[in-house]
Amino acid sequence: MSNKFENHDLSAIKQLTESIENIDAEIEPAELTVPAGTSSAVKNLAASCSDLIERRANNLRRAKQFTADVTHELRTPLTILRGETELALRNDRDINQLHQVLESNLEEINRMTFLIEDLLLLSKSDLGEIPLKTEPMRLDSLIEELHHQAQLLATDKNIEVTLLSKHESISLQADNLRLRQVFLNLLTNAIKYTPEDGSVSIELTEEASFVTITISDSGIGMEEKHLNSIFDRFYRINKTNNRYDGGTGLGLSIVKWIVNAHQGEINVTSTLGQGSTFTVTLPKLKKI
Ligand code: ADP
Repeated sequence: MSNKFENHDLSAIKQLTESIENIDAEIEPAELTVPAGTSSAVKNLAASCSDLIERRANNLRRAKQFTADVTHELRTPLTILRGETELALRNDRDINQLHQVLESNLEEINRMTFLIEDLLLLSKSDLGEIPLKTEPMRLDSLIEELHHQAQLLATDKNIEVTLLSKHESISLQADNLRLRQVFLNLLTNAIKYTPEDGSVSIELTEEASFVTITISDSGIGMEEKHLNSIFDRFYRINKTNNRYDGGTGLGLSIVKWIVNAHQGEINVTSTLGQGSTFTVTLPKLKKI
C-alpha cells in the first residue's frame, strides 16, 4: 500500500522536475496532472510549483514581447531618420528643403527621447524603485491649472473642456509633478480621441478619506474587450495611427503605475462611438 502511494508521489515529482527543467529550455509549461492517490503534501508542492512555473513563463513571455515592442518603436524613427538624411544628401536640395528635413528629423528625435524617458520610468517601477517626491499639495489648484492647459490644447478641435468642482480647497500628500503627468496624460488622450466640436469634462469630488477625479469625453470610445488591456505597455487599439498622433501606447501604463504608487486606483468605462470616462481615486493626506 505504502509503495503504491510512493509511486504516485514519484510520478508527480517526476512531472514537476520535467516542468522545472523545461523553464530554462524555454518550452511552454505542460499542464501538470497529479495522479489520483498522490499524498496531500506532494499535491500542495505540485500546486505551488506549477503556479510558480506559470508565473515565470508569463513573465518571460511579457519580457520577450516588451523587447520586441521597444525594438520596433525605436527602429521605426531611426529608419525614417536615416532615409530622410540619405535622401537629403543624395539630391540637390535648396536651403528650405533641407530645413524641412531637419525639422522632421528633430520631431523623430523628440519622439525617441520621450519614449526613452517613459521606458526609464517604467524600468524604475519594475525594479521597485518608486521615485515619488511626496509633499502636501493642493489638488484643486493643480486641476484648475490643467483645465486651462487642456482648454488651450482643445482650441484647434473646438472641443469644450469644462471643470466641475464643488470644493474650494483639497489637500493631498502626493507627488505634484507625477500627478500632473497623470491628469495631463488623461486630458491629452480625451482631446486626442474626441472628434471636432466634442466635449471633455473634469470633475473633482471629495469624500472623508479620498478624492475622486473623473475625466469624461464625448469621443470615439472603446469596445469592452479593450478596457483591461489599455493599461498594458504598448497596447494601442489602432496601432496604425501612431505616426500621425505621436502615441506609443505607454501613456496609460505610466498613469496606472503613478496612481498605484500613490495607493490610488484608476478605472475606465467606455461606449464605442459615445465616449470614455476615466476615474482616479486617491487617498487624502496619507504619508506614502
Ligand atoms: P497612446 O495614446 O500613446 O496610444 P495610451 O497608453 O495613452 O497610449 O492609450 C492606450 C490606448 O488606449 C490608445 O492607443 C487608445 O486606443 C486608447 N485610449 C486611451 N484613452 C482613450 C480615450 N479617452 N478614448 C478612446 N480611446 C482611448
